Amino acid sequence: MKKIVCHPRLGEITLSRTLRASRITLSVRPDGSIRLSFPALVSERRALRFLEQKVEWAEQVRTKQKAQNPVVSLADSFPTRRHRLRLLAGDYVRISVRITEEEIIVRYPHSCSADSEQVQEAARRGVVEALRREAKELLPPWVDRLATRHGFRYRNIAIKATHSKWGSCTAHNDLNFSLFLLLLPDELIEYVILHELCHTVHKNHSPRFHALLDEVTNGRDRELAREMRKRHPSI
Ligand SMILES: [Zn+2]
Repeated sequence: MKKIVCHPRLGEITLSRTLRASRITLSVRPDGSIRLSFPALVSERRALRFLEQKVEWAEQVRTKQKAQNPVVSLADSFPTRRHRLRLLAGDYVRISVRITEEEIIVRYPHSCSADSEQVQEAARRGVVEALRREAKELLPPWVDRLATRHGFRYRNIAIKATHSKWGSCTAHNDLNFSLFLLLLPDELIEYVILHELCHTVHKNHSPRFHALLDEVTNGRDRELAREMRKRHPSI
């Protein structure tokens, strides 16, 4: 026997009373759905009391799942600046991703669901590729504008899918940027660019480096650094 109940904190929960179950178990599936199974001889009320004791545990599992594997926003949203994500189910034999000027199109067979691991993984791949294209188009002129405005000189710009940092500057003033930078608001993108440009002058995070960064950000170095600490280069 199956039944769906709505829990005030956990949302929809599937109650499953089965002959096979030998004890009450609460499970959180990879997609975040929750199932409470209990033996036929256990009352629903007792099973729900068990659930109440496990609410925090279930929330923790879900939070951890989300952090490891964020669900890519579904159809008709804009996961990047210029690309809308479309997930299309159809008579396809396998999952495919195509990126056009404005869309990331993920096609998948009817046998998969949109929030399945494979479709989500394909969508993430598509978003990363779209971000890469946008970053390659938008960042170099942006860096150039800011460098010209403040009199910085640099050599080359490279854009990579870096998760560990937003940007870096080599000893030879080659600049590297994470393509996930494009997910930030404009003022934070500029802050990261200016941070790396300041490294063309000071190869460290000394007080002189920060004085320069503060100057080119109109006194906002600390405030913007605080904002950056809340964010991480990933999707
Ligand atoms: Zn730095």
